Amino acid sequence: MECKKCKARCIKSGKQKDGTQKYRCKACKKYQQAAYKNLACQEHIIKAITKLLTEGVGINSIARILNISVSSVIRKIKLQARLIVKPIISLANRIYEMDELWTFVGNKKNETWISYMIDRVSKQVVDYKVGARTKENLKAITDQILCMNPKRICIDGLNIYKTLVPERLHKIGLPNTRHIERFNLNLRTHLKRLSRKTICFSKSIEMLEACLKIYFWAESRKCLSLVNA
Ligand SMILES: [Zn+2]
Repeated sequence: MECKKCKARCIKSGKQKDGTQKYRCKACKKYQQAAYKNLACQEHIIKAITKLLTEGVGINSIARILNISVSSVIRKIKLQARLIVKPIISLANRIYEMDELWTFVGNKKNETWISYMIDRVSKQVVDYKVGARTKENLKAITDQILCMNPKRICIDGLNIYKTLVPERLHKIGLPNTRHIERFNLNLRTHLKRLSRKTICFSKSIEMLEACLKIYFWAESRKCLSLVNA
């Protein structure tokens, strides 16, 4: 067998507890197996990926910590995000806060925005959109809330909102938006790809959306046990 690390020749060297043949590289002395049972498919690994992802650990670090490949980590995150369903919120007369957070996707010239709305009391994220701060993107979020007969919607002074939210419901700026401003800080701390002044950022919109979905809704949906593919 060829060494997975240095491509030198490996010789048979004992067996694992379950009888799997072990090999040892003659050059780098590393023990290895011809094939590994797929660690990345095990449920505790999937739970650990989610936990680490939402504790400020980047994808490459997660792969190193859990001893699985980067591509496995990415695959599991995307798969898990697909299984998460947006929670249905239907409480009337609540106060909501909305804000936008900038980040990069792909490269440091490609700036994009995360627009999202939270329920002030529960801090539950009602909905989010990744992309430019267009009327269309923001409207997709505000319209859902307007259907629920909200007490107030607290937003920053972005002009587009004037056409999206009726003036009687609209509260602008601090201190009305301090809960979501705090939430922004948590997001930047807990998702490595949103940390500022680091080399970390999302390589794709799909991954950014997947990570946000897990961060916002994985806990409320208890979907972790479903992901065992
Ligand atoms: Zn070797």
